[in-house]
Amino acid sequence: MIDEAALVAKMLEYAPREAEITRIEYEGPSIAIYSRNPAILLQHGYLVTELATKLKKRVIIRAEASERIDPEEAKIEINKILQPNYEAKKLFFDKASGEVHVYVEPYPSQKELTELSLKIVAETKWFPVFKRYSPPLSRTVDFVYNVLSVLHVERKRFLTSLGNRIFREALNPSKDIRIRVLGGADEVGRSAFLVETSETSLLVDFGLKPGVAKRTEAFPRVDLEFLDLEELDGVIITHAHLDHCGLVPYLFKYGYRGPVYVTEPTLPLMVLLQLDLIEVTEKNGGVPPYSVADVRKMISHTITLKYGQVTGISPDVKLTFYNAGHVLGSAIAHLHITEGVHNIVFTGDFKYAPTLLLDMAYDKFTRAETVIMESTYGAPTDIMPPRRAVEELLIDTINSVVQNGGKVLIPVPAVGRAQEILAILDRSIRESKLSEIPIYVDGMIDESSSIHLQFANYLSSKIRSLINQGINPFRSEQFVIVKNSSQREEAIREGPCVIISTSGMMEGGPVIEYFRNLANDSRNMLLFVSYQVSGTLGRRILDGAKNILLPSAEGKMESISVNCKVFKIEGFSGHSDFNQLLAFVKKIQRLIKNLYLVHGESEKIMSLSQSIRKTVHVNARPLKLLQTVYLA
Ligand code: ZN
Repeated sequence: MIDEAALVAKMLEYAPREAEITRIEYEGPSIAIYSRNPAILLQHGYLVTELATKLKKRVIIRAEASERIDPEEAKIEINKILQPNYEAKKLFFDKASGEVHVYVEPYPSQKELTELSLKIVAETKWFPVFKRYSPPLSRTVDFVYNVLSVLHVERKRFLTSLGNRIFREALNPSKDIRIRVLGGADEVGRSAFLVETSETSLLVDFGLKPGVAKRTEAFPRVDLEFLDLEELDGVIITHAHLDHCGLVPYLFKYGYRGPVYVTEPTLPLMVLLQLDLIEVTEKNGGVPPYSVADVRKMISHTITLKYGQVTGISPDVKLTFYNAGHVLGSAIAHLHITEGVHNIVFTGDFKYAPTLLLDMAYDKFTRAETVIMESTYGAPTDIMPPRRAVEELLIDTINSVVQNGGKVLIPVPAVGRAQEILAILDRSIRESKLSEIPIYVDGMIDESSSIHLQFANYLSSKIRSLINQGINPFRSEQFVIVKNSSQREEAIREGPCVIISTSGMMEGGPVIEYFRNLANDSRNMLLFVSYQVSGTLGRRILDGAKNILLPSAEGKMESISVNCKVFKIEGFSGHSDFNQLLAFVKKIQRLIKNLYLVHGESEKIMSLSQSIRKTVHVNARPLKLLQTVYLA
């Protein structure tokens, strides 16, 4: 418990009386100072900074709910304040926190933002969070807003109780720190690690394994008695790919009611994937592992963090996310345990090189005694060609197929790779390097692109500057966003074109429909630009299968002959290649005591650990499913 009285007394000593501080309360991982006149406290920002430093905790200012003006009136008031230079195109009032998200056009300078914020707080008692208005706005973000709005009372209660839990007195000094592998060690899929100190229990990632039907092999091993959902202090999700976040709502289905920590863009992206998983499973006649209601519960328990924001999440653990360069919002999770006695770095999936879409993964750690590193491309032969050459190969390949009258079908995951490919095509169009053919974009890609636009501050500076100039690289004029079946038929019927569609491993989605119609014609090409997990349809075709059984539109199985060209372009991966993995270890080598290799096929992990021992002289070890390691 905070000694509220003492703190308030201290604040009142310094704070102007007009601020009328009423109480101090926990709000999730932050300490909220409530005031009847919060603008005064904003003007004296140093007070808050001082208090935060003294307490070593995050301190935020809040207005008493009773002081906030009605959202409808606040809307009018905010627009009055913004005019004539700016306009609020969309507003979301978060009643649980007292913040208002303001989508503003044009986007003000930093100095103006500070001034506008102060005015808005003074007039309305709502705290503005400004966002750049870049249409089309995402439906999924709206879904998240809707859940937060409907469940605001529960959310408020949750934030207070979470604060009490995080700031509880530590009863057990953290002597032992251990990591248990629940999935994703010597395999790609179902990533899940349980990190425990004597005080705290945390899950890092909770994904599923694509291409596997049996639950004991597709789900993390939570069938074992040692995962107590009541005892869990938090679930940390590194990024929005189903093999890392796909089963988080499943925890809520079985009664978990604690926090989920993600970066800001990861929340809508993972919701998009989870809702799609439910839909696709039902469409295929299966039973989804959780319902939309479980996804909603997850949303109301999610805490979003920015990169670099150090956050206490239990009495002895601080969490910080850093850019992982893998997909939008992807994070390397850094756990700082018991005042830094031990620090664990989970790389998640990461790219230690820049891509068109994202900056390269962060590497400026000062403490990292234990590192858990992904090894997807761990074999010495897993070396990717230079990015520019790969991009040119893509354009040359497309041009040559369409010049011969063919169509190019590119299956892509909706999150990340799709936007990277779209941005490359958009640039080639602007540079007049790509044939003038229609490019059809189907599946969830466009919705995922909208989320990318909405969180453009997480993208590379190149892409950000395009967006700031009003260019939407995910919606070039040559792109046709497929919205109905007649557009889909047009893409199949008409002349040469490019079709970009989900799912990336051909496990479902509109790509199947296209493939069924295009596979027979030898002028066409099925072009892979992403990793194909073994067991998936994409992998079978890539490995040379010539006859494929697929359900027809009427649901009957029919045999499809693969006469089209099948080609894979290596090098677009959002994962680090062999050299980049070594370079990352080398960069932080002096900090590492324990290096564990996960998220890779066994042989790749073995060869990577040998290479690391030989060239970087770090004792790299594999982890196995259900293994527990004690860290020292
Ligand atoms: Zn990933």
